[in-house]
Amino acid sequence: MGLQNNAEIVQSLYLAYLGRAADPEGLIYWLGQLEEERASANQVKQAIANSSEATAHLALLDSDDYVRSLYHHYFEREPGSLEVNYWAERLESGNLAWDELPDCMVDAACAQDQEALRAKLSVANYYSQHVTQNDYDIKQPLALDHLQSNEELYATLGRLAEHEAITLEQVGESVEGMPLYSAVVGTGPKTLMIVTQQHGDEPLGTEAVLGLLEYLAGESAGAQTLRETMTIVVMPRVNPDGFARWQEQVAGSEGVLDPRYNSNGIELNGTYDPNQPYDPDLAPESAAVRQQVAHYRPDLFLDIHNQNTYRSEDGSLATLSIMWPTNENIDPALIEFSQRAAVAIDQALGEYDHDNLTRYPGNDVPGISRNGLGLDGTATLLLEQRGLQEMDQLAQGTELDFSALAGALTLELWIGMVGIAEAMSTGSVDTLDPLLALQIPERAEAVSFEALYGSDQLLAFAEQSPMMLEETQLLGIQQDEAWLI
Ligand SMILES: [Zn+2]
Repeated sequence: MGLQNNAEIVQSLYLAYLGRAADPEGLIYWLGQLEEERASANQVKQAIANSSEATAHLALLDSDDYVRSLYHHYFEREPGSLEVNYWAERLESGNLAWDELPDCMVDAACAQDQEALRAKLSVANYYSQHVTQNDYDIKQPLALDHLQSNEELYATLGRLAEHEAITLEQVGESVEGMPLYSAVVGTGPKTLMIVTQQHGDEPLGTEAVLGLLEYLAGESAGAQTLRETMTIVVMPRVNPDGFARWQEQVAGSEGVLDPRYNSNGIELNGTYDPNQPYDPDLAPESAAVRQQVAHYRPDLFLDIHNQNTYRSEDGSLATLSIMWPTNENIDPALIEFSQRAAVAIDQALGEYDHDNLTRYPGNDVPGISRNGLGLDGTATLLLEQRGLQEMDQLAQGTELDFSALAGALTLELWIGMVGIAEAMSTGSVDTLDPLLALQIPERAEAVSFEALYGSDQLLAFAEQSPMMLEETQLLGIQQDEAWLI
């Protein structure tokens, strides 16, 4: 893979040698050196690799450790022993200098490693460009290495509720008696409501909304303004029973009820038709959502999901798909506002590298929340983020590490949610042209897991690689064994 711009070059050097995102001043300095041609990329590499911070770190490592540290810094995973030996032997025989290894590893990276590195570079770059030098944290995570269990989620919500700004209330319980919570921040006149994980096996949105709550409770000027102008209601993981079943699948259980559904086997996102009220005993989870919507009458409702992997019209991989209410009986003004909100999210995501928004192919079924709540007078958006295919692979027992991709997706959603909250807060959303929403590229064909990461992909890449084909195949075979069995 090639690095796409100077920011990626600088961030990749910080990752390789320092294991962290560039601090804002460092990034600006090195970008200036490169852009004004005061230093070549190689000179920047030498300067960072020979910095006291890097040499202090490298001095502690033997060649095996160094290879391992690069796999973690770049690809966010533990390498196989064959991979470690392959590179360590080349370092020790003198065929490869230590400062040549990072570039060689990037050149030889298989599809999933390339994706992980691209994800980390995007997250690092966004962080460096949005944090102040004073607030910069050397330990800022650049990946999401853990999905919270139900118990961990409740503990996190409890901790968040210690913030004065957050009110936590149990608003229902699942079929199996797990509590359903609503976390409310702010006292402003406009209301944004966000629901995640109606489908138990779609967990990334939950992680993103927890990050959003943390941000909203904080002391930044942006958060304070949002608390004064907005009321933000978050219901994370409204299908906790389904998520628990997905976790059982990941742990090896077979024959459990599809984690998509609630424990009565109900597709929760089919229970919202206001003209056919659903029995709350069968679907207490969506009953709790509808009750909160009735209570808060939000100006906008976001329904967050994970979908399988799709391409955009131009063949690139979609990260996110969006759609507004599409049932013909819904008030057109409400659809228009939802479209404006989609445009606001699209614009907010424009400043983030790991974003490729597409238009979800919506249908007019009244039972889904996007249409059902729309029929009931609420503007809604469906947000379908990539990630379901990866979660499905984990449930099938594939030993893969998606933490870099998950980190980049979670940040994308966070940026989109903060973006729409700010656009509602300032009123700028009302000035946007709803027709721009129709210019968001259509979601195109699905991409299978094998097509994305399988051996064909590895071989195709090997042909473009400066490494010897057979060497890359050797690594590819190793990776196939580790990932695809
Ligand atoms: Zn879903």
